[in-house]
Amino acid sequence: MSEYKLKIDKIQKGTVIDHVDAGFALTILNLTGLDETNSLMTIGVNVSSKKYTKKDIIKIENVFLDEIQMQQISILSPNATISLIEDFKVIEKKKVEMPSIIKKLIVCETKTCISNSKKEPIDTEFLVLDKNPLKIQCIFCDRIYRLHEIKFKPRRRKSGKKVKQTIEL
Ligand SMILES: [Zn+2]
Repeated sequence: MSEYKLKIDKIQKGTVIDHVDAGFALTILNLTGLDETNSLMTIGVNVSSKKYTKKDIIKIENVFLDEIQMQQISILSPNATISLIEDFKVIEKKKVEMPSIIKKLIVCETKTCISNSKKEPIDTEFLVLDKNPLKIQCIFCDRIYRLHEIKFKPRRRKSGKKVKQTIEL
């Protein structure tokens, strides 16, 4: 049994987000709103891993991710895997999949971009040029963004707390 398995207990039912890029677990929790759940959550940061040397891992009881949360995770950690757990067993395991066009989730910072038009604002769309390291391009103004330049669209939160929109690497 590897070291991290000893340190992080198995969950009975819920979701395991594994192979998260080291140091991204807290950003992912904040961005996806998973930090607002009342469920038991175990977070491992900088866990030793054979495949990627170091990684983060998140285990959440009784919570299953929606499509938007999966997309957010794929942007921040393209190598992440999502496992669904029932009765302590993995019933489904999949790699996060980044869409070829990311819609709505990210803000374009070009003031003159049509997505920022005050009269008729339209949803942003970014073409994924490279997944890892991330490179995306606004389909309206052609501006290119890398991971640390991305600004996420603010999300409505239960608590009214402000969401961290930018990633600090
Ligand atoms: Zn733009």
